[in-house]
Amino acid sequence: MDSSEEDEGEEYLFKVVIIGDSAVGKSNLLSRYARNEFNPHSKSTIGVEFQTQSMEIDGKEVKAQIWDTAGQERFRAVTSAYYRGAVGALIVYDISRRTSFDSVARWLEELKTHCDTTMARMLVGNKCDLENIRDVSVEEGKNLAEVEGLFFIETSALDSTNVKKAFEIVIREIYNNVSRKVL
Ligand code: GDP
Ligand code: MG
Repeated sequence: MDSSEEDEGEEYLFKVVIIGDSAVGKSNLLSRYARNEFNPHSKSTIGVEFQTQSMEIDGKEVKAQIWDTAGQERFRAVTSAYYRGAVGALIVYDISRRTSFDSVARWLEELKTHCDTTMARMLVGNKCDLENIRDVSVEEGKNLAEVEGLFFIETSALDSTNVKKAFEIVIREIYNNVSRKVL
């Protein structure tokens, strides 16, 4: 193997999980990010699914394998296999439904029992296009994120607001965490 091949051989593949109550928009955030698709009538299929997405950081190809609960969360039965090996997480609530925001604490607890707390975590207030029926203020989201040490962003899978940004901040932070450990 010559040196150029060695350089190209530097590969990164990280597992990222999306969690949050049913119907907050997890599957649509992933389909918007991975395929630029939105489904107004998305039905949750049972079974875990993931999508692999690449981005370039420092001239390197960084791949994220992003897992979607695909409906398991309805039965409060997200398995430990779902979390295994995850180094990043998006914890999603719906800004128009307060109960989904109240559930964030429970999702964070579950995350802590399965994953290292040094993982990259982003609190995501989705459906920010529904400003007229907003039920959780931006401040409340920000405050919770600050208390829990999470990144925070509001998104809309419907109109694409901040979707790419949400995933890319998490992936970049994972990459930074790994680079720090290597150094
Ligand atoms: P999941 O159960 O968390 O995976 O949620 P889904 O992605 O299946 O979305 C649940 C419902 O919310 C669907 O009817 C979506 O069309 C809708 N939805 C998802 N994201 C948004 C969004 O950003 N804005 C609005 N207005 N609706 C959304
Ligand atoms: Mg879903």
